[in-house]
Amino acid sequence: MARPATMRAGPAAESLADVLDARVKVSDTATAWLDGELVKLADRVGDELGRLVQAGPSGKVGDATRAQLLRHNLQDVLDILDDLGMDDARQGWFARHAAVAQAAAASLEASGALDDADAALDTQAVRSAIAAHLGRTEETFWDGKVARPTAERILSELHRQALGGTLDDLAATIEVELGITRAQALTEARTSIAEFDRFVAEEVALEVDPTGSELLRYYGGPTDALLRPFCGELVGLVFTLEQVASLNNGQIGGVGGPIHFGGGYNCRHVWSAVHRDDVSAFGATLGTAGNVAAANAAAGDPGRRGKR
Ligand SMILES: [Zn+2]
Repeated sequence: MARPATMRAGPAAESLADVLDARVKVSDTATAWLDGELVKLADRVGDELGRLVQAGPSGKVGDATRAQLLRHNLQDVLDILDDLGMDDARQGWFARHAAVAQAAAASLEASGALDDADAALDTQAVRSAIAAHLGRTEETFWDGKVARPTAERILSELHRQALGGTLDDLAATIEVELGITRAQALTEARTSIAEFDRFVAEEVALEVDPTGSELLRYYGGPTDALLRPFCGELVGLVFTLEQVASLNNGQIGGVGGPIHFGGGYNCRHVWSAVHRDDVSAFGATLGTAGNVAAANAAAGDPGRRGKR
């Protein structure tokens, strides 16, 4: 379906920062939900394994149990995890992406960059792009960073304990291991859902203005103590698509670089399209080549560790 080049509505919010606050919260809520699910899952896995290796009447774990544990392969553990709630967590996580997509599009509407976010989200091109992105995420993020690493940790611990360990503390050991997996999965989750948010916003913006001749990109999000130097040079400023393309966060390159990944791992900052005629109405400031250069230089700052 053909669409007009730009469907500009004009500013409908107090500030661009307000527009983005609501949007960032949707991703934060989804990530917090996933954290809760992974905590519950770890508890259930601990219980299940405790039951699996329960000592017999003699108080000793028999050879049969050890042999049974050694027979488990990765797929068995993945299946057990799904039964214990991993599959529900996956479905819930991806179901929450719909709200993230809506919030990303709504922020463009609130910034006045387009007058109907739903229409932009509903075009075939945008829907296909989102579906393809979700498909990739399910494999690279969920399988690669959540399900498999969790199953691998459990399996290696099962085998290690079955081969010579006491088995008594298997459940406790695995809960510790799962705590490590969970922390890593959350960093990946935060990074993945923020990437999805930026991806949707960018697809919608490109749908209404493919060349970036009218819509610029505002970089918004938190400016707290966690702010990494790269983001600190950019946050609150408005850039052209060309300037955004010349940014280098020094971390995640990938397909779109900072337009999709912001400052990189754990970054909570997002881009929102704003019409070039509305920049001053929002009291926003145009970024310069100097800002871009400063951000790229700051990306190499060793003080960035743990920053977002
Ligand atoms: Zn950031």
